Amino acid sequence: MLQIHELHKSYPIGDSSLHVLKGIDLSVEEGEMVAIMGSSGSGKSTLLNIIGMLDEADSGDYILDGLTIKDLTEKKAAVYRNKFLGFIFQSFNLINYKTALENVALPLYYQGMKRKERLELALFHLEKVGLAEWSHHLPKELSGGQKQRVAIARALAANPKLLLADEPTGALDTKTSHEIMAFIQQLNDEGKTILMVTHEEDIANMCKRIIRLRDGVIMEDTKVNQVRAEQYV
Ligand code: ADP
Ligand code: MG
Repeated sequence: MLQIHELHKSYPIGDSSLHVLKGIDLSVEEGEMVAIMGSSGSGKSTLLNIIGMLDEADSGDYILDGLTIKDLTEKKAAVYRNKFLGFIFQSFNLINYKTALENVALPLYYQGMKRKERLELALFHLEKVGLAEWSHHLPKELSGGQKQRVAIARALAANPKLLLADEPTGALDTKTSHEIMAFIQQLNDEGKTILMVTHEEDIANMCKRIIRLRDGVIMEDTKVNQVRAEQYV
């Protein structure tokens, strides 16, 4: 599904620069569920954002589903991002003045789907995360776990091949984290490929593979026996 080779990324700081990614090599197959770990500031979000085409690498190769990403125009990249990728963030990133249903329907708007169709499909996805009755509520009326479930429904609305999650449980209590992880595992059971940044060891062990970043490179890449989250819910 994705192949990365010799990826480098620096950020300018004043007159110098901070070399964050120093030659990342990574392959992910369809159906995998991978945790990206590393200490704070090790470049986890930077890597995930480059994979998600929210940011660009300075050098290196990145092939996503057979497509060489650096050859894409900005416009093509945007189309591809909408069609192919779903995102979940620690802070949910819902739009405050839109209802749960409208939030979930938004990516479908960008795909050019008609209003009636996109609201129907959005409701289907809200049902899947158990929030149909909350569809007309605003984010501020929802708990953290509910907000993250809306965000998951939104990420899945356009049926992306790859789901990218940056600390999806970072703002949630332990029990709610496990509920969200049970959802994410279920998606992976259904075949969705998932890449997830976390700094929590117990959350990483709910994935099938863990990569660890240190000093700008992947210093460990191991398959793990997936701990099931539903047993804690
Ligand atoms: P992590 O997600 O592992 O905590 P990040 O990828 O967010 O790490 O950041 C890696 C390093 O790059 C950090 O030192 C951070 O301060 C720096 N950094 C991240 N984004 C930017 C940016 N847009 N401009 C400058 N420095 C940045
Ligand atoms: Mg981060």
